[in-house]
Amino acid sequence: MRKVLIAGNWKMNLNRQAAVSLVEAIVQRFASEGTVDLALCPPFVYLETLAPLLKDSSVALGAQNMYFEKSGAFTGEVSGEMLVDVGCRFVILGHSERRHILGETDAMINQKVHAALELGLRPILCVGELLAEREAGQTEAVVRQQMTGSLAGVSADQMPNIVIAYEPVWAIGTGKVATPEQAQSVHADLRRMIEECYNAQVAGAVRIQYGGSVKPENAKELLSLEDVDGALVGGASLKVEDFLGIVAGVPK
Ligand code: PEP
Repeated sequence: MRKVLIAGNWKMNLNRQAAVSLVEAIVQRFASEGTVDLALCPPFVYLETLAPLLKDSSVALGAQNMYFEKSGAFTGEVSGEMLVDVGCRFVILGHSERRHILGETDAMINQKVHAALELGLRPILCVGELLAEREAGQTEAVVRQQMTGSLAGVSADQMPNIVIAYEPVWAIGTGKVATPEQAQSVHADLRRMIEECYNAQVAGAVRIQYGGSVKPENAKELLSLEDVDGALVGGASLKVEDFLGIVAGVPK
């Protein structure tokens, strides 16, 4: 049985005071019944401020990115060790905004995945097609390439520590959510690909989140799909009512 993971990707939003208020409200109101894992991924600069607020809670801290080298002359980058040092347990890797705006390749993301796993950080690996790729019938090929390229060299033993986030790029921040049929179909494809690359046990254990305009109004239907094991939430993770409204949509 896979445990649902709802993760908030705050992107480059909020200031310190708003970040603290949001975390305090979520921690106070989130009553874990053991059926849901929750993670919050604020901007790097607020990680250290927020870590103590999450320390004794059932909400995990995550980061939105990291660099694969341990230390050195990499101006502006943040290492996995630094993330562990401030209390992170998850790290989002290969988000479409990093792939398409900041030019990250599968090879680069693969190095980050390995660096994160070595440190015990759980990667939330994002994959997803552009609208033009979907319209050209290339969705399966695109997510296969992204997933296999980003996971090259990852062992079956390491796989249960990976979370895959299927995020169709056309659904991110647009209000255009994938239909339940579209989401389930790609999630099932991804699980089949994991089985082909590893085995049925690994495929059954890996959590596959859906991301792209998830809101309280559509969460229940998406989260009830057979191969959807949670959500990666952008815009709606910035408001406590919306975020916890999504959590409330997890099937009991
Ligand atoms: C995201 O950025 O990962 C995302 C899913 O954003 P939104 O929920 O705003 O579409």
